[in-house]
Amino acid sequence: MRATQIRETFTDFFTSRGHHQVPSSPLVPDDPTLLLTNAGMNQFKPYFLGETPPAFPRATSIQKCARTSDIDNVGRTNRHATFFEMMGNFSFGDYFKEDAIAFAWELLTEGYGLAPERLWITVYEDDDEAERHWRRIGVPASRIQRLGMADNYWSMGVPGPCGPCSEVNYDRGPAFGREGGPAVDGERYVEIWNLVFMQFRRGEGDKKGGFPILGELATKSIDTGLGLDRLAAILQDAENVCTTDLLLPTLHTVQRLAGRDYPGRGEEKVSFQVVTEHARSIAFLIADGVLPAKDGRGYVLRRLMRRAVRHARLLGIDGPVLPAATASVIANLGGVWPELTAQAALIERVVTSEEESFTRTLAQGTRLLDAAITRTRATRSAALPGETAFELADTYGFPLELTVEAVREAGLTVDEDRFAALLAEQQKRAQAGGRARTAEALRKRDTYRELAAGLPRTEFLGYDHLTAET
Ligand code: ATP
Ligand code: MG
Ligand code: MG
Ligand code: MG
Repeated sequence: MRATQIRETFTDFFTSRGHHQVPSSPLVPDDPTLLLTNAGMNQFKPYFLGETPPAFPRATSIQKCARTSDIDNVGRTNRHATFFEMMGNFSFGDYFKEDAIAFAWELLTEGYGLAPERLWITVYEDDDEAERHWRRIGVPASRIQRLGMADNYWSMGVPGPCGPCSEVNYDRGPAFGREGGPAVDGERYVEIWNLVFMQFRRGEGDKKGGFPILGELATKSIDTGLGLDRLAAILQDAENVCTTDLLLPTLHTVQRLAGRDYPGRGEEKVSFQVVTEHARSIAFLIADGVLPAKDGRGYVLRRLMRRAVRHARLLGIDGPVLPAATASVIANLGGVWPELTAQAALIERVVTSEEESFTRTLAQGTRLLDAAITRTRATRSAALPGETAFELADTYGFPLELTVEAVREAGLTVDEDRFAALLAEQQKRAQAGGRARTAEALRKRDTYRELAAGLPRTEFLGYDHLTAET
């Protein structure tokens, strides 16, 4: 089943069951507490918190998500991407556990035709109610596992809503890992769908130490997320997301540029996946208005771009890689996500200029890094000095994570504490400099104002004539 049909099947299933279809919100959330949109429920937070009355009792969406926290898993696990589409159904004080479970089961087994005996369920350790519903639907006890707080409990804010989760996992078979269910092996038993039951009000504390349950919520809600990328891999019998129709054209582009075939030898497979997968995140982030920067969202984007470029060089691609790789993402996904097509020119400009500037220092930085690794080994130390990592970041634009990754590939670590100390010192200096510059700018402004007060008005045309710089 192609991704297009997977999306349509999902949306049709839930709209025909009374769910209001809501478009994806942008990757840049309207929420100061969140760097990037990372789940379908983000845009419904005010409903779940009771801040706004819901505009409809049930909703369904296909949400663009970014999770840079999963960046190191790309190419290392089959199931993690930094950008993915989360399909979800939501109930705002309407239906609860029983219906959410019945919907998920019916859609997976009938809508998508997944073999019931391959589906394994996890429930929160004391959630007998959820287990009872799964059993009634026909899941045997042998394929239901109980997990603790870390995996199967959800909460938001203090005090705020919380509750147990129940997840559906698909057994990809012995070629993917060990027997024993999702509690034993997440690569073999891939988590595909998370059902969150917002049931209680919680008090102070955290997941590790625990927190008190203050009572039941007056209106109980449902939040679910089914990963399109993971489901596509299963339905297309693809090993990972890069070999599904979501990304295969991009993987082909990378192969063509590299002049070699996936998966290649040794670590090349990881590099192929990193370039391919990151190209998609990069295109989507820029389309939603993120531009490379030293911090915040822009830093996330920059990190993805630089990591992709570095891995492209490891594959032997010496010329530009990001323009062609992101162009193939736009060509393949622009029909479903029109913002990609609308922003194609911007995406090309941004990736071209970022890749050019990084390429200028990449070779020098790599030489410095290789020499430092050799020196570190010679001194029989396990850690690369923080000074080197700092110089690489400061002078050569190597994000710390990139240095850590390269150093890890060589079997070493980085003195990250020292790096952090050097960075803090530099920031302090920059702030002091910034304060001096601000004072200077304010003084100048006052001088200009005084001057301007005595002059006739002129029209400023600069904004219309400035050429955009990226
Ligand atoms: P995992 O334990 O595999 O990291 P998760 O528990 O962090 O997944 P949820 O927060 O429950 O994931 O998100 C709901 C669904 O979104 C998951 O069941 C999965 O199908 C999908 N998903 C989550 N993270 C990723 C990712 N990095 N790449 C692709 N799909 C993902
Ligand atoms: Mg996760
Ligand atoms: Mg999980
Ligand atoms: Mg989960």
